[in-house]
Amino acid sequence: MPYCWPDNTVFTRLELHVEDRRCHTCGGQLTVCDHRHRRLFTLTGPLHVVCKLAHCPDRTCPAHTQTHSPEAETALAMPWWVLGWDVVCWLGHRRFARHWSVGQIRAELADTYTIPLSDDAIECYIHRYQQMVAARQQDPHRLAAAYAEVAAVMLSIDGLQPEKGHETLYVVRELTRKRVWFAEALVSSTTAEVQRLLAQAREWAARLGKPVRLWMSDKQAAFVRGIAAEFPEVPHRYCANHFLRDVAKPVLAADSHAKVQMRRKVRGLRSIEREVYAAQRPAEPTAPEPEVGETAPVAVVHANAPPPDVVLDYCAAVRGILNDDHGGPLHPPGLRMAEALGEVQTSLQRNLAAQKGGLLTSSWGG
Ligand SMILES: [Zn+2]
Repeated sequence: MPYCWPDNTVFTRLELHVEDRRCHTCGGQLTVCDHRHRRLFTLTGPLHVVCKLAHCPDRTCPAHTQTHSPEAETALAMPWWVLGWDVVCWLGHRRFARHWSVGQIRAELADTYTIPLSDDAIECYIHRYQQMVAARQQDPHRLAAAYAEVAAVMLSIDGLQPEKGHETLYVVRELTRKRVWFAEALVSSTTAEVQRLLAQAREWAARLGKPVRLWMSDKQAAFVRGIAAEFPEVPHRYCANHFLRDVAKPVLAADSHAKVQMRRKVRGLRSIEREVYAAQRPAEPTAPEPEVGETAPVAVVHANAPPPDVVLDYCAAVRGILNDDHGGPLHPPGLRMAEALGEVQTSLQRNLAAQKGGLLTSSWGG
């Protein structure tokens, strides 16, 4: 549906001319025969593009009925698009490189670029962006260039479900260049369907003129049988990632147990913080003045304890460590926790050593 521009939109006008004004059939000069008006959103503001269409004016020339468009037009936007390439690339980058949601993209476009788009429109252009990227990825010339230095290819196939209940998306990747070759959603995962993808992979490798050194996948029967049939001479290995995931289960279970133990041991942060806050509070006005020769207890804590900020910082750091659950089987969170707590302990001991000489109060020492 054409976009409805508000009446008060201010456009920058841009006129485009046919670049080559010579008729390739009769050698005559092309003349302007029509204008095509387009209005586009760009990151630098709304654009009104006037394309001056041209034709050969010679009625006897066979090319007379052909109309030529300025080629520069498609460098601004594809036909029927209301967004310029710059906006489409921006959308794709925010969505896929920065993982922004459609809502976030919508708000940023409206706030920063004054481009009011609906969620539907944004999703539609994101889809087009994906098609462009896929077309570029699969371009035979680019592919040949990417594989010029590669002696042999290593392929992997895996099925994944973008969302539960969706049809499975089968992805064929090449591992030396870490490149998705192609992906296809299959309604049924029969050996015949999967084998069609494997045959396609064989064609791709043949077109590149590269031998297939290895296949890698999980143990799904369709893969095992299909690869054996299509690539009888090629070794087929169990995916290291699946292997690692299986090995990781007991490791993560032990790690999780260790985390519970550490959390049980390192506790009492709240009571330390409460003590610091209590010490910071000014003495109550009704409290009697300390008698001569005596020191007020609060003053003792202030004089000998470390600065309250330092204690609170330590508490915050330890709390952060105890709540940090990041990491996976290769960097188990419990191991990270143990290392971080060790660093805090070393740091505390350094401070204790520096303050040696009986300056410490019982709260700091604890
Ligand atoms: Zn002509």
